[in-house]
Amino acid sequence: MQVIYSGKDNGLKKAAAFVNELITDGDLWDRIIAHGKFDRALIDPNTIVDRLKAGPTELHVQDLKAPRWKRWTIYRRTVAVVDPTHPARFSYHRKFRRNSVGQKVNTILHEYVHIVDNSDADEGEQMGHGDNSSVGKENTAPYWIGSEAQRIYETKSGEMAAAPPAGEM
Ligand SMILES: [Zn+2]
Repeated sequence: MQVIYSGKDNGLKKAAAFVNELITDGDLWDRIIAHGKFDRALIDPNTIVDRLKAGPTELHVQDLKAPRWKRWTIYRRTVAVVDPTHPARFSYHRKFRRNSVGQKVNTILHEYVHIVDNSDADEGEQMGHGDNSSVGKENTAPYWIGSEAQRIYETKSGEMAAAPPAGEM
């Protein structure tokens, strides 16, 4: 999988470039397998890694293009919006452009787990987190994998460690 971002957010550009390196070097996959069990997951970590590796070849990220009223009402707490008609694409809400690069790395991985999960032929979530609340979801696959990628970025770049991104993913 390669992340393709063509918008104007420099942090998101850096995050996309980092994710493209991260997923080719294998360290994240090893950490997922070593982590063991994920809450709400119906498949084991080895299967999760197999599916993530076999996911779409391109993940398209773009700036959220929605009318202003929508961005400030139904999407006001939403960092990333997936589009069911374009299964390998999500839109990033510019309201969250000040999130750190590490937090943006987190969001990309989090959404990638959902996108791979949604693209499986099986019915329903195999590695999801249920509703949009982030409370108590730290050990679900999307949240844990996103946060682990953020930690790897922060360690390698020397960026100050931040909390996971605010808002819903
Ligand atoms: Zn999510």
